[in-house]
Amino acid sequence: MTITPGTIAQMDAADPLARFRDEFAIREGLIYLDGNSLGMMPKRTVARMNRTITEEWADGLITSWLGADWVNSAARIGDKIGQIIGAEAGEVIAGDSTSINIFKALTAALSLQEGRRVLLTETTNFPTDNYMMQGLARFGDLECREVGPDAVLDALDGSVAVLLLTQVHYKTARIRDMAEVTARAHEKGVLVVWDLSHSAGAIEVDLNGANADFAVGCGYKFLNGGPGAPAYLFAAKRHHHANPVLTGWFGHARPFDFDGAFEPATGIDRFQCGTPPVLGMSALEEGVDLMLEADMGALRQKSIALSELFVDLMGQCCGEYGFEFICPKDSDERGSQVAFAHDQAYAIIQALKARDVIGDFRAPNIMRFGITPLYLSFSDIAEGVERLRMICEQREWDWKEYRTRAAVT
Ligand SMILES: *Cc1c(COP(=O)(O)O)cnc(C)c1O
Repeated sequence: MTITPGTIAQMDAADPLARFRDEFAIREGLIYLDGNSLGMMPKRTVARMNRTITEEWADGLITSWLGADWVNSAARIGDKIGQIIGAEAGEVIAGDSTSINIFKALTAALSLQEGRRVLLTETTNFPTDNYMMQGLARFGDLECREVGPDAVLDALDGSVAVLLLTQVHYKTARIRDMAEVTARAHEKGVLVVWDLSHSAGAIEVDLNGANADFAVGCGYKFLNGGPGAPAYLFAAKRHHHANPVLTGWFGHARPFDFDGAFEPATGIDRFQCGTPPVLGMSALEEGVDLMLEADMGALRQKSIALSELFVDLMGQCCGEYGFEFICPKDSDERGSQVAFAHDQAYAIIQALKARDVIGDFRAPNIMRFGITPLYLSFSDIAEGVERLRMICEQREWDWKEYRTRAAVT
C-alpha cells in the first residue's frame, strides 16, 4: 500500500502524544533524528535554569542546599527516574556519568561475589562500557571476558562474577530480554548490570519485574536532561548492603558529622559519591518531569509506528539506492532507532545535515536515526526521508567536500 501525504496527516491527527511537541524548543525546518544521542531542550528548562541560577544560587547561596532541596536532588530525581524504569522509591540515585556509574555498579556487584573474578560482556557493547570494565580488571586483578553478542548466555558459568550488558544496542537497536537474561545469569550465580542508556524513556523498562540487580543509564539521551546531564544508578533493595568502592562523603551515613571514618549510608545514598552537580540536576529534572507526564505504553506504540513508517518510506522512496536495514525487522525486538548500512553513509549524513536533517554516522558504514516519540511527528519522518530521497536522486554524496572528509574521518 502506498503511503500518501493524506495517510501521514491522519497519523499525526490521531497521535495521542502530539501535544508534547510544543513542549520543546524546535527550530523551524529542522528534522532532528539524533535525540538518542542528545535529546532536545524542553522549553520549561529555560525557566528552571533561570530560577536555579538567579534565585537559588545568586540570592540563596549556601542556604539553597536546604532551602531549594539541593541536598536531596540525587535521591529525589533518582526516584522520578525510577518510575520510568520500573524501580521502587529509594532504588535509584542520579549523578555522575554513565561511565562512572558503570564502575560503581560493577564494583558494588563484585563486593557481593566473593571468590569470583571474571567480568563478562559482549564485544560490540558501547565502547565506554567495555573500557570501564577493562580498566577495572587491570586495577583489580580481575579477568575481563568479552564474547560475541550471541555467545553471552553460553559464557555464563560459575567463575563469572558480573555480566554487563546494554538492553538496547546502540547501533542495531536490538533489545535484550532483560528478564530472561537475568534469570539465566542468576541460575549460574552471576549478577547483572544493565545499561539502560538507550532504553529509559524509549521503551518500557521493568527492572523489578525482571528481577534486575543493578542498572545504569544516561540523562541526556531520551530523558532530555541536557548536554552532559547527570546519569543514574539503580541497585535493587536486596543489594543495598553492597560495599561501594567510590566512598565519597555524600555516600556517608551522616555526611555532615564530618567523621574521620567512612560509614556507608544504609540505602541507595551509599552509591552517591561527591557533591551533586546542581545546575545539571536542575535541567535533568525538567526533562524527567516532562517524560513522566507521558504514558510509556503510548510512547512505545508511537515509537514503533514512527519507526515502521520510516522503514516503509525508505522502501517506497529510496529502495533503489542500496540502503541495507541493519536493525531487527520485528518491531518488538527493536528499540527506538533505525539504522541503515550504506557505502556512502558518512557523506550522506553530511549531505543530510546540509539539508537540515540531523542523524548520525557510526563507523564503519552506518547511518543511525533516533526515533524520539515525545517530539517527533509522522510528518517529520516523511520530510526526513523525502530530503534523503532528493540527496540520493541528485547523488549529493558525490560532492567533493564530503568525500574528502570521509577519507580523513
Ligand atoms: C551513551 C552511552 C553511554 C555514555 O556514557 P557517558 O559516561 O555518559 O559518556 C554509555 N553506555 C551506553 C550504552 C551509551 O549508549
